[in-house]
Amino acid sequence: VIEIKGLQKKYDDTVVLKDITEDVKQGEVICVIGPSGAGKSTFLRCLNLLEKPTKGQVLFEGTDLTTLNEKKINGLREKMGMVFQNFNLFPNMTVIENLKLAPKKVKSISDEEATKTAQDLLDKVGLLEKADVYPTSLSGGQQQRVAIARALAMNPEVMLFDEPTSALDPEMVGEVLKVMQDLANDGMTMVVVTHEMGFAKSVADKIWFMADGYIQESADPETFFSHPQTDRAKDFLEKIL
Ligand code: ATP
Ligand code: MG
Repeated sequence: VIEIKGLQKKYDDTVVLKDITEDVKQGEVICVIGPSGAGKSTFLRCLNLLEKPTKGQVLFEGTDLTTLNEKKINGLREKMGMVFQNFNLFPNMTVIENLKLAPKKVKSISDEEATKTAQDLLDKVGLLEKADVYPTSLSGGQQQRVAIARALAMNPEVMLFDEPTSALDPEMVGEVLKVMQDLANDGMTMVVVTHEMGFAKSVADKIWFMADGYIQESADPETFFSHPQTDRAKDFLEKIL
């Protein structure tokens, strides 16, 4: 679904991503892990062109995003849902309005249809009864589940997550990971930047270990966690496990 070829990203003189070539296949769950500052967020943002790569290509379903104009990129971006650390819900809208906004604006669907889809998704993340409240009255875990449902409302083909549980109190991490696990079980293609090693071990098809501007290791979780190949990965795992 996504092919990354020779991706490089510089900010002024700092080369954050040096040379990344990988691909994401249909239905795959990839967990991107690595030390702080390694470029994980930058990498994720390059996948949907929220950051413009300095060099290289990002192909989404065969189309090179780096050659498209902003309007076309927006069209393709709708197929890639993104969930951030800090939820980013619209505070002046109710939960269900948050879910309906983008689909109504972008797709020509009726209010009824948008409502139906939004309700189904809220039900799926266990928050149907919160449809008419405002996000500020929800816990962090609930807000993040709404943010996931909102991304799903556009019916994306790929979901990108950037540390979706890092801003949460520990007791709320589980409910969000559960929703993500359900999504993975439903066959969603996902790229997840995370520090949740339990999730990475049990849900990922593949781990990408990122450090110093490269994906240093790409392996299934079993191999990566029990037999890391590089000193960089061994060192990282020693520190966190
Ligand atoms: P963390 O685990 O802390 O979230 P990360 O792996 O996501 O880290 P990035 O946020 O991608 O790392 O940042 C990688 C490097 O790029 C850092 O050194 C950061 O300072 C730099 N960087 C990121 N965004 C910008 C920017 N807009 N302008 C300049 N430098 C940037
Ligand atoms: Mg980051």
